[in-house]
Amino acid sequence: MNYNTIIYIAGHNGMVGSAIWRTLSAKGYVNLIGASSKELDLRNQQAVRDFIRKTKPDVIIDAAAKVGGILANNNFPYQFLMENMQIQNNLIDTAHRLGIDKFIFLGSSCIYPKLAPQPLKEEYLLTEPLEPTNEWYALAKITGVKACEALRNQFDKDFVSLMPTNLYGTHDNFDLNSSHVLPAMIRKFHEAKLNNHAVVVLWGSGTPLREFLFVDDMAAAVVFALENTLPESLYNVGSGTDLTIKELALMIQRIIEHQGEIIWDDTKPDGTPRKLMDVSKMHALGWKHQTNLEEGIKKTYSWFLDNTDKFK
Ligand code: GDP
Repeated sequence: MNYNTIIYIAGHNGMVGSAIWRTLSAKGYVNLIGASSKELDLRNQQAVRDFIRKTKPDVIIDAAAKVGGILANNNFPYQFLMENMQIQNNLIDTAHRLGIDKFIFLGSSCIYPKLAPQPLKEEYLLTEPLEPTNEWYALAKITGVKACEALRNQFDKDFVSLMPTNLYGTHDNFDLNSSHVLPAMIRKFHEAKLNNHAVVVLWGSGTPLREFLFVDDMAAAVVFALENTLPESLYNVGSGTDLTIKELALMIQRIIEHQGEIIWDDTKPDGTPRKLMDVSKMHALGWKHQTNLEEGIKKTYSWFLDNTDKFK
């Protein structure tokens, strides 16, 4: 690996892909490749083959996925299952066929069973049933993890899977129907504050526990996996601590300085009760997150304020 290595970041316009791109550029990597979804439909196998043949990357980082919060996952099960499998299969299999030796596959903590012991260790994969609200996305991601593991075992390739906890940060999705909880809360508290500190309606009971990681810390984990040959095929990436959704709401409400009431809409799903990652394997190798939650929320809110015209 050197600064001239050709690195294709699939999904480089998304929150995670753009953070990886920024981090690699800042470090001095000069041969980064990306293609927008208009330029390249990753669900199209032939298009993916042609693109990789033409651009000849040394490494592929798969940060492309159809993602969404609890409601979007629940409402569009087929797309979350099929489009994610198409995207990752096209990238992984093309990398294999064209002799690309290094591949970093990104997934999510929802691959682990709903009621697995906490914190979640990598070895709990496939030990019990999944959380129903996101099992479609999770199943797709599990097949991606297994495809990388199979290539590693059978062909001795450096294909590695990193499973981040709930990510948030700059370039996040703030659309209230499809976003995850943290950007949704930023938007809701901000708009309620502008509206004379109106009531904020949040979803579920507020009791589920979630762990959050600032996206730049995830990007640093990807760079770590790029620059080192990791000994195993699957690693969790998280901050190692969680809080209740209610505690998160109060923290965001304080940062945004909203002074109105919060109402919990229990017709909306809670999702899995807890999904805290055990990050000891990545810590043992030398990666650790740098940004605490409060600092990360402030950075994200500041980015949101600079980009509010996009969210009208
Ligand atoms: P999950 O981590 O896969 O469950 O996905 P989310 O980030 O969408 O939701 C996490 C938790 O936050 C769930 O218990 C939701 O019910 C809760 N939540 C509370 N308010 C909101 C909201 O406005 N949007 C979203 N997406 N979730 C919310």
